[in-house]
Amino acid sequence: MSLQGKKALVTGGSRGIGSAIAKRLAADGAVVAITYAGNKAAADATVAAIESKGGTAFAFQADAADPNSQRAGIEQAAAALGGIDILVHNAGVAEFSVVSEDSDETYDRQFGVNVKGLHVGTRAALPHLEDSGRIILIGSISGELAFPATSVYSATKAAVAALGRGWAKDLASRNILVNTVQPGPIDTDMNPADSEFAQQMMGAIPLGRYGKVEEIAGAVSFLAGPDSSYITGTTLNIDGGAAA
Ligand code: NDP
Repeated sequence: MSLQGKKALVTGGSRGIGSAIAKRLAADGAVVAITYAGNKAAADATVAAIESKGGTAFAFQADAADPNSQRAGIEQAAAALGGIDILVHNAGVAEFSVVSEDSDETYDRQFGVNVKGLHVGTRAALPHLEDSGRIILIGSISGELAFPATSVYSATKAAVAALGRGWAKDLASRNILVNTVQPGPIDTDMNPADSEFAQQMMGAIPLGRYGKVEEIAGAVSFLAGPDSSYITGTTLNIDGGAAA
């Protein structure tokens, strides 16, 4: 159990990739807190799945797009955990439209959750974050590649990787390691593998399939654990070769 005794906070841990990360970190021995936007039933199900395997987990409602709510959620999680060793910023939203159909609202929602939520959340977490801790950001290969009708989402994910690089330098003196995991298409509510969009995407994925949430969680577990002690300020694509 490589994360025995560690305290982990995963934002957006109620569903999809975040839920898989929470379960994996708990299976590795960490005590886990998750945040969620509104889906309490899904958050409770993640907690129950962890507890059914002998782990310990907590869930707190916190809207990443609302600074006061995000700060309150992080404070509650840090108090429940007794500090934070591993902070995973996973909460994210995607709203796809071509630039002529983008709006102020879709821009603000995506930057609010995907970028400002990370910035507010990291600043709130820092006083509780142990030296030699880890911050893992969930970006996207969209931060490096253009797909049709995703320019604003892509811009948010480019910003995520940029924050990760900057924080790696800002926090190196405390040996806090900061890295960004960039998934390609992963089968979740956000991007179901049986959608029409997925059929269009499939040709662009050399491995010829969507990824599974557990394949992202495994990489996060590695970056949270002892074997990644000299890795900081980098991005890791997990995308079946889509960005190669
Ligand atoms: P899902 O839509 O399946 O799950 C999103 C999760 O984020 C839920 O737990 C949701 O909570 C939470 N969330 C959404 N908005 C907020 C908010 N305002 N405040 C707090 N929590 C929020 O998404 P995925 O699991 O697919 O995506 C997770 C991350 O991975 C995102 O950052 C996404 O951009 C990224 N990603 C996903 C890819 C994919 O193909 N699936 C590809 C590349 C990156 P609730 O249940 O309460 O709604």
